[in-house]
Amino acid sequence: MPAIPSATVSRLVTYLRILARLAEAEVTHTSSGALAKEANVSAFQVRKDLTLFGSFGKRGTGYEVTTLLATLRGILGLSRPWRVAIVGMGRLGQAIADYPNFDQYDFKLKAFFDTDRRKVGTVISGIEVEHPDELPRVVVQREIDIGFITVPQHAAQLAADTLVSAGVRGILNFAPTVISVPQEVHLEPVDFLAGLKRLAFYIQKP
Ligand code: NAD
Repeated sequence: MPAIPSATVSRLVTYLRILARLAEAEVTHTSSGALAKEANVSAFQVRKDLTLFGSFGKRGTGYEVTTLLATLRGILGLSRPWRVAIVGMGRLGQAIADYPNFDQYDFKLKAFFDTDRRKVGTVISGIEVEHPDELPRVVVQREIDIGFITVPQHAAQLAADTLVSAGVRGILNFAPTVISVPQEVHLEPVDFLAGLKRLAFYIQKP
């Protein structure tokens, strides 16, 4: 597969979301124009993105929704299950654990960790909270691929280091701090407050 720029990956994720909704509504075909409109990009951009992986559209009928959906799932690595651990079972960790839609794309929550002894041993959404001392063993035994970091800012780097040394290859970091990981590990920051700050900048009165 060609190296895909991260902006393209973000657009593919958007197309996937649109296609999943169309499939749910039992729409059988769509066009680059319709996808472009919903994704807020040009039809040329949609065609360019999709031809990177082969030509899927037919002149006249456009794209077959289920075929394109399956192809995008494959390209994005979403046609296999991914096993997830959450480190930090406070307000955010617990809210994520309660979120019902992970299964839609085969993201399976498999382990929860927290240093708070009052939380260790409790069960959240059917999974027992364990102490991070157990993390190296649990990651190997439950074949965890992805770690969510939902610890306070000061503990985020340590949480990342522990996940990486245990063999986790992807990290979604919700703590508002820059953490470093080795090149072979992929890190996605989710900075809700940075989004709010950008919003304040754009809507402030001149
Ligand atoms: P919280 O204080 O409710 O929970 C943090 C949890 O992490 C606690 O249970 C604590 O015991 C645990 N913890 C601390 N150090 C740990 C370690 N080394 N290993 C494992 N567990 C550890 O905090 P929160 O509100 O859930 O926020 C968590 C993180 O997410 C913070 O960095 C916060 O800035 C960020 N965040 C929170 C929200 C939100 O809406 N709550 C939104 C965006 C970002």
